[in-house]
Amino acid sequence: LGILVDITERKRAEEDLKKSRERFQLVTRATNDALWEWDAVTGEGWWSEGVQTLFGYSAEEVRTDSEWWRERVHPEDVERIESGILAVIKGNGHHWSDEYRFRRADGSYAHVLDRAHVARDAAGKAIRVMGAIIDITGRKRSDTALRASERRYRTLVEEMNEGLIVTDLREVIEFVNDRICALLGYPREEMVGRTTFEFMARAEDREIVVSKAQLREQGISDRYELAFRRRSGETVWTLVSGTPLVDAGGAVAGTIGIVTDITERKRTEDALRQSEERYALAAAGANDGLWDWDLTKNEVYYSSRWKAMLGYDDAAIGNSPEEWFGRVHHDDLEWLKVTLDGHLAGATAHFEAAHRIRHRDGTLRWMLTRGLAVRDATGRAYRVAGSQTDITERKVTEQQLMHDAFHDALTGLPNRALFMDELVHSVHRAKRRKDYAFAVLYLDVDRFKLVNDSLGHGAGDQMLVALARRLQEAVRPGDRVARLGGDEFAVLLDDVTDGSDATRVAGRIQEALEAPLDLAGREVFSTASIGIALSLTGYDRAEDALRDADLASYRAKAQGRDRCEVFDLGMHARAVARLELETDLRRALERREFGLDYQPIVALESGDIVGFEALLRWRHPHRGLLGPGEFVPVAEDTGLIVPIGRWVLREACRQLCEWRRAFPDRSTLGISVNVSFKQLLRVDLPQHVEQVLAEAELQARRLHLEVTENVIMEHAEAVASVLARLKDLNVRLHMDDFGTGYSSLSNLRRFPVDALKIDRLFVSRMEEAENLEIVRTIIALAHHLGLRVIAEGVETGTQAAQLRALECEYGQGFLYSRPVSAEAAAALLANRSALAP
Ligand code: C2E
Ligand code: CA
Ligand code: CA
Repeated sequence: LGILVDITERKRAEEDLKKSRERFQLVTRATNDALWEWDAVTGEGWWSEGVQTLFGYSAEEVRTDSEWWRERVHPEDVERIESGILAVIKGNGHHWSDEYRFRRADGSYAHVLDRAHVARDAAGKAIRVMGAIIDITGRKRSDTALRASERRYRTLVEEMNEGLIVTDLREVIEFVNDRICALLGYPREEMVGRTTFEFMARAEDREIVVSKAQLREQGISDRYELAFRRRSGETVWTLVSGTPLVDAGGAVAGTIGIVTDITERKRTEDALRQSEERYALAAAGANDGLWDWDLTKNEVYYSSRWKAMLGYDDAAIGNSPEEWFGRVHHDDLEWLKVTLDGHLAGATAHFEAAHRIRHRDGTLRWMLTRGLAVRDATGRAYRVAGSQTDITERKVTEQQLMHDAFHDALTGLPNRALFMDELVHSVHRAKRRKDYAFAVLYLDVDRFKLVNDSLGHGAGDQMLVALARRLQEAVRPGDRVARLGGDEFAVLLDDVTDGSDATRVAGRIQEALEAPLDLAGREVFSTASIGIALSLTGYDRAEDALRDADLASYRAKAQGRDRCEVFDLGMHARAVARLELETDLRRALERREFGLDYQPIVALESGDIVGFEALLRWRHPHRGLLGPGEFVPVAEDTGLIVPIGRWVLREACRQLCEWRRAFPDRSTLGISVNVSFKQLLRVDLPQHVEQVLAEAELQARRLHLEVTENVIMEHAEAVASVLARLKDLNVRLHMDDFGTGYSSLSNLRRFPVDALKIDRLFVSRMEEAENLEIVRTIIALAHHLGLRVIAEGVETGTQAAQLRALECEYGQGFLYSRPVSAEAAAALLANRSALAP
């Protein structure tokens, strides 16, 4: 009878062991280590050949029982070692290792490191123990060994572009590569021989290094972060991979550290942490949601707030990226992804994108999502996290502001900025495509100021709104109407075939505007002057096209309103010339280029000189002598006529004073000075006149101010008080160019004028009966109102005789004298004889 025992398990374990022993021996044959094996069941042992080579024993001397080994362990070590290894075997450990002294054949002791592996069966019972003894006596490994391993690592590491530090077990630096020198800013000589501690940025890193060195002695490699201090003082964050440096004898002699600069990554992480803290803070106050995307796991953490912002509670939203992207408005999705990818790829310092997202209630919300990626040593992002802010309200206001910025508040039409934007596109298109042409219409509402002034701003606004609507109705759907400001509008006609298209539209607009408007209970008729610029002119810049259209509208207005003018290059030349004139005019006063000519005014009956009219001349540096017709309108437009007029007044009065001194018997001589409406609109004119009179010591009634009839009628209200105050000074007022304006004679009564000057036009055509009648009527009515009459442009004796017959008091014209210089005028005064019969 026998006892049946199941030894299947044990057989299998033995099988495994055998295999691993074979492997073990194979691997270690090349080494000089002393390998051993001990059967825990039978107590049998085994030694590899290494035990002979390592300790000098002959094959015969080596016995395989454990006693042989124990006899050779140093008496001071044996107890510790035996109990240590037995504790591991009896416990359930698998590894044991320790150092002790082992006696050589020659009686000397070698320092050894013994490492063992305990093999156990399924029940956990120890079956065999296998070990390897290495000689660590020569801890000071040979230089050649170091250099060899160094070289091996160096090439490896240099290729990786990483730093390399080799230290001994006390952390004394034995070698650093160029990368480390560059990273820390020290030359190699200054590092070798010193401990790594001297280069640490933080005290706590010392402890890390010490504990790592202990691990290293046990042959363990690992990775840890260290902060080094550069020579310049900054901190360099590194990731160190520490590997034991093993000498030729197999002993651990120090550490090989592969050093990676992770300062950048640290900085990002710090920034992220800071921003997270910031966001966490902000989240409490500003209602931000937070998200954190683990890119390796592709999982996103969404904060409760993040979910609540979309109308969901915590459980309703999982952690997939789709929870987010799946709700983003499809028009914004592409951009969101591109922006995020860009940041992950390292193209941007921060990730920031505004996008719409669908709320649980079906509405769209605008979210501003911000984030920051965290990167590993190679710069690859492994995490990205950030916040989500609801900016819906801001977006709505922003859109409103955008709209406001590009539209006119009153009419709702696009404004100048938007119009120019579109015009720029049209200009580009016209340059690219031969078959494309556009037209710009510049619209100036005629007499808008009149409505505004007389019916009030409310009515003015109403008028603009109504006109804007009519304009929009008059153009085709694709054409753009804009309000450029004030009473000026523009229309961009897209895709016209030629100029006639544009004029046709202009005609349609003018028709549309024709119908009367009802403003504040009154019927108001409005017209517009329209200027047209065509792309055929060949524009490079939108401003030029608009400017030319403006110029053309200006022409249209000048030609008598409610008209349309197409810009041509001649217009441009004129505009340029005008601009030049304006520039020259600005300098003319200080350069003393102005002068006055004087034309005598005579008593028709006697031919005696009763006074002179001062007429302005400009000695232009390049263009020679210019008459007032060539520059006074520009001077009026620019306001330059005001300072020029002051000069004229002062000079004319000074001249008269001089003549009166030279010819004491001519004390009744008067001086006529032309005054522009721009001067009359200045309330300080009477004060200035008074001052000039005082300077010249001239009686006010010797000064005759000539104001044209049109000015008095058109600006009646504005100039009334100034005229009254001039009258109070006792200055004489003459109505110039009488007959050309629209004033009825009865209107004359309302103005404090002393004399009328009949316009040259009537005098020159007095042979025609009709004109003679007009002149006769004017003179009769003037006399009836107690006004004197001066006839202008008297060129012939016949005219003089006719005027005398009509009892016209005074005459002025080439018949008597052309306008002449002050000296020539003095000569006329000296010559006592009458100028003409
Ligand atoms: P105005 O006040 O009607 O001046 C008379 C213009 O008629 C002068 O032209 C004069 O040379 C011209 N004239 C005089 N007699 C005859 C004649 O028999 N036949 C013809 N065909 N013409 C004659 P001028 O000097 O070219 O002045 C033109 C206008 O310029 C003046 O018209 C006046 O409105 C304006 N003007 C002249 N000087 C001044 C000034 O100092 N200030 C202002 N604001 N305007 C001035
Ligand atoms: Ca005059
Ligand atoms: Ca005149």
